[in-house]
Amino acid sequence: MDHVLHLRCLVCGAEHSPDTVAYVCPAHGVDGVLDVVYDYALIARRTTREALRAGSGMWRFRPLLPVEVDTPVPPILVGDTPLIEAPRLAAQAGVARLWIKDESRQPTASLKDRASAMAVAKAAEQGLGTITTASTGNAAAALAGMCAAAGRRAVIFVPAAAPPAKIAQLHAFGAAVVLVQGTYDQAVELAMTASARRGWYNRSTGFNPYMTEGKKTAVYEVCESLEWEPPDVITVGVGDGCIIGGLHKGLRDLLALGWIDRMPRLVGVQAEGSAYLADAWRLDEDVLTKPAIVATTVADSIAAGLPRDRVKAMAAVRDTGGGFVTVSDAAILAAIPAVARASGVFGEPAAAASWAGLLAAVEVGAVGASDRVVIMNTGSGLKDVAAAWRGAEMAGITAVSVRADGMDLDEALDRLEDR
Ligand SMILES: *Cc1c(COP(=O)(O)O)cnc(C)c1O
Ligand SMILES: [Zn+2]
Repeated sequence: MDHVLHLRCLVCGAEHSPDTVAYVCPAHGVDGVLDVVYDYALIARRTTREALRAGSGMWRFRPLLPVEVDTPVPPILVGDTPLIEAPRLAAQAGVARLWIKDESRQPTASLKDRASAMAVAKAAEQGLGTITTASTGNAAAALAGMCAAAGRRAVIFVPAAAPPAKIAQLHAFGAAVVLVQGTYDQAVELAMTASARRGWYNRSTGFNPYMTEGKKTAVYEVCESLEWEPPDVITVGVGDGCIIGGLHKGLRDLLALGWIDRMPRLVGVQAEGSAYLADAWRLDEDVLTKPAIVATTVADSIAAGLPRDRVKAMAAVRDTGGGFVTVSDAAILAAIPAVARASGVFGEPAAAASWAGLLAAVEVGAVGASDRVVIMNTGSGLKDVAAAWRGAEMAGITAVSVRADGMDLDEALDRLEDR
């Protein structure tokens, strides 16, 4: 790993060796989130953006990832998800062009597979057979799936109220599941305690510095798909802030290597009931002292009372001239069928939030007619069928029913005419 210079604490700036520090800055505990710092000159001597097109999936980008050349990775395709142009959505939003990065196509149907594949690789480097995480659901499903692919053991702490589809995935993938009678934030604390006591590898977001590095591969693919002509704006649902921090990191890598020539504005979308970061940004609050809030939203994947990657998330928005917007649960639910019917891409609430957030950003003038926009479909609509159902109902979308003998078929078809 000679292309990794050190891990830098985002609180005090101290530099730590990845050989001695596994997770956070020893001086700052869980607040001391680390950033992986690379030797870009060395990377540039070793590879080119053209060379990285060879192969498939996120591990094509191994020269830019914090793993050894021979570290085994889960034997399942992660990444290389499509970037789908959606001209009808572009017209509806009033922007120049719009693409959807469709992460519902990942093996466990969310962007979290990129981070979980990285966790499994890092655990292998350390020779640790059991990997644990707390999760609102998708990180758990992703870790369970990647562990299943690699033949590792996953122990998952998940709120008992997580959507059933996500918990079903955990059981199907053979993970050991601990249902926490409480919130995601409480599940995080329990996963920390368990991994410290049992010596398990800890994938938890914002604590494990390598999750950002896995997630950043999504934006490499976005820029590659656009022939290295980056979009002007990227919108993404934000809970802990790891994805938006990862997008920022990937873009900084590409800029440092001279593979792109400008930085897109990153727009973080939060639910009104889980707006820790949006509030901190609007009020210019210090996220190291701002207390946790009580988070409630239909978009479970972006419910976070104390976003674990808040330092990286704030930097992502500030350093790119982007911003945070908040959207109501009603707007999030409405976004599910709105995106699906105009593009063929079906997202869960936290994913569809990227569309609701784009509309909000256009409304306040933060995004406009000349902008080329990418919205991140971070997870599949099949993850939360109940929410999709509610979104459709709210939009007045219903079926007509017919008798089995078809006696009323014509009447039924007439009622369908406007669809
Ligand atoms: C995890 C997740 C998010 C938010 O990512 P953070 O890193 O927590 O900000 C958004 N959408 C989906 C589908 C997710 O699973
Ligand atoms: Zn520190």
